[in-house]
Amino acid sequence: MQTNQSAQSGTTRVERKIARLVERDGPNCVWCGRRCIVGGTEGSRATLDHIIPRSLCRSDHLDVLVLACFDCNNTRGSQSINVFIGEAKTPEVRLLNRAIDRARRFMRVRAGLYVG
Ligand SMILES: [Zn+2]
Repeated sequence: MQTNQSAQSGTTRVERKIARLVERDGPNCVWCGRRCIVGGTEGSRATLDHIIPRSLCRSDHLDVLVLACFDCNNTRGSQSINVFIGEAKTPEVRLLNRAIDRARRFMRVRAGLYVG
Protein backbone atom coordinates (compact mmCIF):
# COMPACT_ATOMS: atom_id res chain seq x y z
CA MET A 1 0.00 0.00 0.00
CA GLN A 2 1.30 3.40 -0.93
CA THR A 3 1.22 6.02 1.76
CA ASN A 4 1.78 9.73 1.68
CA GLN A 5 3.28 9.69 5.15
CA SER A 6 6.96 9.40 5.88
CA ALA A 7 7.52 6.90 8.66
CA GLN A 8 10.77 8.55 9.67
CA SER A 9 9.88 12.22 9.91
CA GLY A 10 6.11 12.09 10.13
CA THR A 11 5.85 14.69 7.38
CA THR A 12 3.81 14.32 4.25
CA ARG A 13 5.15 14.52 0.72
CA VAL A 14 3.45 17.91 0.32
CA GLU A 15 5.10 19.23 3.49
CA ARG A 16 8.50 18.05 2.28
CA LYS A 17 7.99 19.76 -1.08
CA ILE A 18 6.94 22.97 0.66
CA ALA A 19 10.11 22.80 2.76
CA ARG A 20 12.20 22.40 -0.42
CA LEU A 21 10.49 25.40 -2.03
CA VAL A 22 11.09 27.56 1.05
CA GLU A 23 14.76 26.56 0.86
CA ARG A 24 14.93 27.38 -2.85
CA ASP A 25 12.78 30.52 -3.08
CA GLY A 26 12.26 31.80 0.45
CA PRO A 27 9.01 31.85 2.44
CA ASN A 28 7.02 34.43 0.46
CA CYS A 29 4.00 33.86 -1.76
CA VAL A 30 5.01 34.27 -5.40
CA TRP A 31 1.78 36.15 -6.17
CA CYS A 32 1.16 38.56 -3.28
CA GLY A 33 4.55 38.58 -1.60
CA ARG A 34 3.33 37.89 1.90
CA ARG A 35 5.09 35.43 4.13
CA CYS A 36 3.53 32.00 3.93
CA ILE A 37 3.03 30.15 7.18
CA VAL A 38 4.14 26.53 6.92
CA GLY A 39 1.60 24.30 8.60
CA GLY A 40 -0.73 27.22 9.28
CA THR A 41 -4.50 27.15 8.98
CA GLU A 42 -5.11 30.73 7.85
CA GLY A 43 -5.30 32.18 4.35
CA SER A 44 -1.57 32.82 4.56
CA ARG A 45 -0.73 29.15 4.92
CA ALA A 46 1.85 27.74 2.52
CA THR A 47 0.54 25.73 -0.41
CA LEU A 48 2.07 24.25 -3.55
CA ASP A 49 1.02 26.01 -6.73
CA HIS A 50 1.66 24.79 -10.26
CA ILE A 51 3.21 27.73 -12.10
CA ILE A 52 1.96 26.16 -15.32
CA PRO A 53 -1.55 24.85 -14.59
CA ARG A 54 -1.41 21.15 -13.79
CA SER A 55 -3.85 20.41 -16.59
CA LEU A 56 -1.12 21.54 -19.01
CA CYS A 57 2.14 20.39 -17.39
CA ARG A 58 0.79 17.15 -15.85
CA SER A 59 3.61 17.01 -13.36
CA ASP A 60 4.26 17.61 -9.66
CA HIS A 61 8.00 18.08 -10.22
CA LEU A 62 9.56 20.84 -8.10
CA ASP A 63 10.54 22.66 -11.29
CA VAL A 64 6.88 23.39 -12.05
CA LEU A 65 5.94 24.27 -8.47
CA VAL A 66 6.06 27.53 -6.53
CA LEU A 67 5.09 28.55 -3.03
CA ALA A 68 1.77 30.37 -2.84
CA CYS A 69 -0.44 31.37 0.07
CA PHE A 70 -3.75 29.53 0.30
CA ASP A 71 -5.74 32.66 -0.62
CA CYS A 72 -3.84 33.26 -3.87
CA ASN A 73 -3.80 29.58 -4.82
CA ASN A 74 -7.51 29.30 -4.16
CA THR A 75 -8.32 32.48 -6.09
CA ARG A 76 -6.11 31.51 -9.02
CA GLY A 77 -7.56 28.04 -9.51
CA SER A 78 -6.36 26.86 -12.92
CA GLN A 79 -5.94 30.33 -14.45
CA SER A 80 -2.84 30.87 -16.56
CA ILE A 81 -0.01 33.07 -15.30
CA ASN A 82 -0.96 35.88 -17.67
CA VAL A 83 -4.60 35.91 -16.62
CA PHE A 84 -3.89 35.71 -12.92
CA ILE A 85 -1.00 38.18 -12.87
CA GLY A 86 -3.58 40.93 -13.30
CA GLU A 87 -4.99 39.98 -9.90
CA ALA A 88 -1.66 39.61 -8.16
CA LYS A 89 -1.19 42.40 -5.63
CA THR A 90 2.56 42.73 -5.36
CA PRO A 91 3.94 39.86 -7.35
CA GLU A 92 7.44 38.73 -6.59
CA VAL A 93 8.58 39.50 -10.11
CA ARG A 94 12.08 38.10 -9.75
CA LEU A 95 10.79 34.88 -8.20
CA LEU A 96 8.03 34.63 -10.75
CA ASN A 97 10.38 35.09 -13.71
CA ARG A 98 12.75 32.47 -12.35
CA ALA A 99 9.85 30.07 -11.79
CA ILE A 100 8.55 30.59 -15.32
CA ASP A 101 12.02 30.02 -16.83
CA ARG A 102 12.47 26.88 -14.74
CA ALA A 103 9.06 25.49 -15.70
CA ARG A 104 9.58 26.24 -19.39
CA ARG A 105 12.96 24.50 -19.31
CA PHE A 106 11.34 21.53 -17.59
CA MET A 107 8.67 21.33 -20.28
CA ARG A 108 11.25 21.59 -23.09
CA VAL A 109 13.48 18.92 -21.56
CA ARG A 110 10.53 16.61 -21.12
CA ALA A 111 9.47 17.18 -24.70
CA GLY A 112 13.01 16.38 -25.88
CA LEU A 113 13.39 19.87 -27.28
CA TYR A 114 16.06 21.18 -24.92
CA VAL A 115 19.13 22.27 -26.85
CA GLY A 116 21.07 23.94 -24.00
ZN1 LIG B 1 -0.50 35.12 -1.86
